Amino acid sequence: MRFTDFNFHPSLMEGIEASHYETATPVQEKVIPPILEGRDIIASAQTGTGKTAAFLLPVMNRLLTEPLDGAVGALIVVPTRELAIQIAQHLEGLSYFTNLSSIAIYGGSDAQNFVAEKKALQMGADVIVCTPGRMIAHLNMGYVNFKQLRFLVLDEADRMLDMGFQDDINKIINHLPANRQNLLFSATMPEKIRSLARRILLDPVEVNIAISRPPDKIVQRAYVVYEQQKIPVIQHILKTIPYKNALIFCSRKQTVKELTRQLKRAGTVVEEIHSDLEQSQRENVLSTFASGRVPLLVATDILSRGIDIDTIDLVINYDVPSDGEDYVHRIGRTARAEADGTAYTLISEMDQRKFGSIEQLIGKEVDKVPVPDFLGAAPVYDPKRKSSGGGAQRGRGPAGGPNRGSGGASGRRSGGGSHRSRGNAG
Ligand code: AMP
Repeated sequence: MRFTDFNFHPSLMEGIEASHYETATPVQEKVIPPILEGRDIIASAQTGTGKTAAFLLPVMNRLLTEPLDGAVGALIVVPTRELAIQIAQHLEGLSYFTNLSSIAIYGGSDAQNFVAEKKALQMGADVIVCTPGRMIAHLNMGYVNFKQLRFLVLDEADRMLDMGFQDDINKIINHLPANRQNLLFSATMPEKIRSLARRILLDPVEVNIAISRPPDKIVQRAYVVYEQQKIPVIQHILKTIPYKNALIFCSRKQTVKELTRQLKRAGTVVEEIHSDLEQSQRENVLSTFASGRVPLLVATDILSRGIDIDTIDLVINYDVPSDGEDYVHRIGRTARAEADGTAYTLISEMDQRKFGSIEQLIGKEVDKVPVPDFLGAAPVYDPKRKSSGGGAQRGRGPAGGPNRGSGGASGRRSGGGSHRSRGNAG
């Protein structure tokens, strides 16, 4: 399903396009339509599935099409400040072309932040992302006004209960108007989550995103690289790892074309496949690949699902795919049937955080192979690094843009009149 099918507000579509989202991930496809219809949701989905945008987009869409004036429209409650910051940054990226306001409210920050948070809570912010304890601190002061609130989102609800936030969540809910839409996301669905759901959700739509894990027989490895080291590393892999059929995946067709050109120039027998080719050309390329006449193919994700060629024994991800499911599908092209296979992923600085989410999704850390000495130093792998430090989120469409000049890495935005996205964008 493409994002154009959801009929989102034009300024939201601009943010989606600038984030390079084209098709919805499975969880987005399942939850966005019922949320747009006003239904409550209970969804089991993990980090890496695109769950954040799955709730942010329909919530933002409603706040854009039916704006509130000076009130809090949506409250997103999450277990940790890291998650609060991450969601606030995601929100800022997607809302870059809108006038929606947002703020992250979490514990451990200083008194100045508390004042900014108070101001936002009093004057209204379209979306508030918070950790429970800090929100309780504000609620106890008596100035918080949630009268017009339309959405309550509980993200990583199982973790919140594991961390002992049950009472805090109950207290927060007691301050909310009864007539609101509730969206509950949880990686797991133990009985305590079901009982929370029975108490707060009204006739919810239930969505289950099965956790897909790659088969154990696929050997997964990764190189942590600078962007300019990618092609030499690929050449090194192709030279040192014997293969019958190898597939290299790139997220963009421009990259497919450029990489194929460079490999050909270096004398490698290789073809490319992407959506610019006619159907007949694609079939032609695929059959030369399947027959082994051309052992190496560079492809966009059009090949990441479905292709079933038993002799593929090597997959290389030129970049980290945007969602975990795509990663599983890409590397699942190797080790089909009885065969074994190896999958390498090149992780640039910009992709480290994304790869961290994928490792969470598949439940294991992928072995990192040192880059060959002749390529010099490589970056350190630190997927949790805050984006301002040169890392993981730079270059993801507009994300990071609104943060500039709005107080650094925290993803928070000052309260009151100055926290409109456009206004801060500079
Ligand atoms: P999440 O599961 O919400 O942590 O998202 C995982 C990653 O997928 C984030 O980097 C998102 O920016 C990215 N993402 C979410 N939805 C899409 C989409 N439809 N297309 C491409 N990337 C996406």
